[in-house]
Formats: sequence, structure tokens, C-alpha cells
Amino acid sequence: MQGLMQDWPLLTTRFLTHADINHPTREIVSMLPEKAEKLGQFRYTNADMAQRARQCGQALEKLGVKLGDRIGTLAWNSHRHVEIWYAASGVGGVTHTLNPRLFPEQLIYIMNHAEDKLLFLDITFVPLIEKLAEHLNSIEHFVIMVGADDMPETSLPNVLCYEDLLAGEDGSYEWPELDENAASGLCYTSGTTGNPKGVLYSHRSNYLHTMGALSGDTLGITSKTTILPVVPMFHANAWGIPYATAGSGAKLVLNGPHHEPDILHDLIIQEQVTVTAAVPTIWMGMLQYLESTGKDMGKLKVVTIGGAACPRSMIDTFQRKYGVRVNHAWGMTETSPLGTIGSENAYIENFSEEEKLDIQCKQGRSIIGAEICIKDDDGNIIPRDGETSGRLMIRGPWVAKTYFKQDEENMLDTEGWFDTGDVACIGPSGYMHITDRAKDVIKSGGEWISSIDLENAAVSHPNVTEAAVIGVYHPKWDERPMMAVTVADGASITTEEMHAHLTGQVAKWWLPDDVVIVDEIPHTATGKISKKDLREQFTEYKLPTY
Ligand code: AMP
Repeated sequence: MQGLMQDWPLLTTRFLTHADINHPTREIVSMLPEKAEKLGQFRYTNADMAQRARQCGQALEKLGVKLGDRIGTLAWNSHRHVEIWYAASGVGGVTHTLNPRLFPEQLIYIMNHAEDKLLFLDITFVPLIEKLAEHLNSIEHFVIMVGADDMPETSLPNVLCYEDLLAGEDGSYEWPELDENAASGLCYTSGTTGNPKGVLYSHRSNYLHTMGALSGDTLGITSKTTILPVVPMFHANAWGIPYATAGSGAKLVLNGPHHEPDILHDLIIQEQVTVTAAVPTIWMGMLQYLESTGKDMGKLKVVTIGGAACPRSMIDTFQRKYGVRVNHAWGMTETSPLGTIGSENAYIENFSEEEKLDIQCKQGRSIIGAEICIKDDDGNIIPRDGETSGRLMIRGPWVAKTYFKQDEENMLDTEGWFDTGDVACIGPSGYMHITDRAKDVIKSGGEWISSIDLENAAVSHPNVTEAAVIGVYHPKWDERPMMAVTVADGASITTEEMHAHLTGQVAKWWLPDDVVIVDEIPHTATGKISKKDLREQFTEYKLPTY
């Protein structure tokens, strides 16, 4: 027997319409890529955004966008980016967010593989795309996201001005009732090997992910929240935050091209931001800025940190010194991206502060709607004992089953689990702890050493600003850890001093065989430590311990 409830497709435009009807005066504040002054913000309301997104939808239809057409965006977080984001999927196309930090060859590959029909780009990226344009096979129009007064001179062919496009439409448009399983978004993972792979979200997956993101224990968003997603929209949909703000009535603050700690801080204070989210590297810069200026975090209550492991010292400093709760989150482009979050549950409510901190260093519990487990190499589920680690698996309606244009390749195991490539353990209360990417685990004498745990312990040393650990060949142990660190201005650290600092925090046999000070630790396009680049940097390196 079937239920007798309405068949109301779960579409991303439902969030926009909800915001328009129920929270029409709630603000969206945006910094603009074309304005040089630091806080040259633009502000308008949800009603304005909904109106302009409809105008944008009308313009897309006039440009010939049909069901399933991919619309590329190469843009910072801004109000215009959110408009085109809703409009492209709203008319039945697919919003394809491109990461401008990728190598030019990767961008060319991705745009051609996706067969983007239009490219909406910020003025910042015009010089970059001018250089690539002759290699882009499918793009019919380049839409520069500025007003007519700010349109640059450009050699790009078939150029359109975003504001002119919108000005030609009246916004009297109704979003079509699409199939909820229709594709709505596309985001390529910056894999460390091979070509980037496209994760193709559907309206339904984005809708359900947003409901998960909005559940009480997840990001801490309500209608009273003011949220600044520093995480870019091209990094897995800014973790779904622009949907969640429209779905909740929260105020949305967008930082445009600005990621400098002083500007982010000004924005947080000026707009009275209460919730924010980004990768640890952003917060490392912010904590250094706060330390050097003696400033506080204003009204900020919650910061969600994910994308890479958050060090204990960072969680501790945010909470103890600045009164900002840290929610440590884990996810992937393939999981829309939220998989787990470390908000406090009843189980740990009565723990001591130190015990709570131990739990917060883990990556959290699965969000309602997604399930996780740990499997051994034979595919058996490992018990949730908090100690035995294995392959982290995930399944749920916002987890990818295959990559774009790889339909024949089933990525799931026989029970429908997606292998994340991460190594983790899960405790009895459901808190999951990532020890490494499977390929980054250091295998020393048949045992595993977690590079992440070593890095996180190292950065609590006052002289160390960042640490990255890789396994390096050793004739007796196969691999031993080598730690590369950056140090604070004028500071230094020796291997012995690092050993003294790590002793008691990690097992003795984990202590790195060498600590090397470097000028910079390489990062990927999404701000994670790039172990691949670091290994390349150290290919000629030999450990001093043999
Ligand atoms: P991406 O698809 O670029 O977002 O990368 C996803 C990968 O980032 C995951 O598979 C993890 O290896 C890593 N990651 C994300 N969040 C965390 C976290 N909180 N701690 C450790 N690793 C993380």
C-alpha cells in the first residue's frame, strides 16, 4: 500500500521561494569583487534576491538554456553568484561551480568535460579566462558578473554583462516543476591522481542535504542566525549554507574575494555574525590576527571547521579564549558535503571540559539522513569500539553513487556503501575519528601512524604555525614519519624540542625521525595540506636515522 501524501518535488528553488514569502526583509550582505574598497558592501533582501533570481532565470531561458544544460560559474561568494546558482538549476539547468584555484589545464579539462554552455565569471577571473578561451569548446557566452559601468575591456568572444541581462527581464516568472531527481549542481573533486571527477547533485539530494544541515544539532542555523560562509561556493556548495540560509530565514553575509583575517574580522564585527564556517587554514590566520591585535570575536557564537582536521589547540583557543563554540565537521564533495558534525550531544553533556575537548577533536556523529560505518579490507563492518580503525564508508540520499559521465562504473559496494578513502574509527557514542587519508597513513614496521594526529599535536607548540607529516622510506621500518613545519617569525624548533613537545601526546614510536623547517607548506585548491606536493618536494630527501 502506498502512502496518500502529495507528490511535491523537492526542488532547490523551494528554499528561495520560502525565503521570499516568509522572510522577505531578511538581509543578504555581499562584498563585491569589482569594488576595491575593503568593506564596499552591497546589501539587499531575500525578496530582492528572489526577484533577481527569477529575472536571471528568464534571461537564461532567452539564452537558450534547456533541461540539463551545464552553466559554469567562476566566482567568489557574492549575491550575484547566489542568484545565478538558484536560477541555473531553477530553470532546469545544472549549476557548475568551478574552483578558480585549480591549474589552468584542470579548468580547461573540467569545462570541456562538463560541456558548459555558458560561463558566468567575476571580473577577477577575466584575465585568466582570456588565456584559456581558445581551448574551451562548448561555451557560447561569457557573462561577466558586473554592471555596465564596471564592464572591462576584454578579448573574450560573445561577452555579456550580467546586470544588463537582468535589466532586460521583469521577474514575472514561475519556476518550473522539475523532476526532483533532475541534476541541479555539478562540482569536480580535485583528486590527487588522474583527472578531476564530477559529482552531480540532484534537486532532491540538495534539498535533503539542506534539511540535514538545518537540523538542530548540525550547523547551528536558525532564523535568528547571521552566517558568514567563508568556505567558497565552489567548494562543495559552501557546505550547503546558501540553501540553508534561505531555508531558515537566516541573514547571509558573503565575503566576495576577501579571505584576509582583518577583512573577515571587520565583516564579522560590522554585520554581527553569529555563525561562520571554513577550513582550518582560514582560522589559523584569524587566531594569529586576534592574538596580535588583542581583538575579540564580537557576537560570534559558533564556528564550523572542516575540510581538514581541526587541531585541538584551535578548538581550545576559540572556546576558552574567545567564547566561540567549535563544531568540527567532516565531509566530501561526494557527500554534498556534510557527513558528520561534532556538536555536543546528551551523552557528553556531563563530561569534563578536557574530556569534551577530546571528543571535539574527533570529526563528529553522522547527520540524520546519512549513515557511516567502518569496514576492514575484506568488507566486514568493524565494531564501534573507538579504537579499531578501517575504511570509512558512507551512504545516504546525498552521497554520490557514480561520477559524471562514468555511469557504467558502480562506486558502491554490495550494501550500497561509498568508500570515502579515509581511515577512521567510530566510538560507541557514534563519534567518528579520522586518522588519515588511506594513502597518507604512515606504515611503520607493519603498524599505522596517523599523520593527522601528529600534525595536530605539533601545532600546539607556540613556535609552530603549521605542520605536515609524510611517510619517508626507511630500510628497517619501510616508512618513518618526517615532519615539515613552518614557524612563527623569528622562531625555530629542533627535532629534539618537537619530540619533547609530542611526548605524552602520541606514542613514543610515532615521534618523527626528523623535523624540517620549510618556508611554506603546500596547499590544494581547497585549502588542504597537499601531501602529494610535499612528497614531490622531498623526493630526494633521506632520513637522518639510517
Ligand atoms: P573535498 O572533497 O575536497 O572536500 O575533500 C574531502 C576530504 O577532506 C575527506 O575525504 C577527508 O580526507 C578530508 N576531510 C574533510 N573534513 C575533514 C576533517 N574534519 N578532518 C579530517 N579530514 C577531513
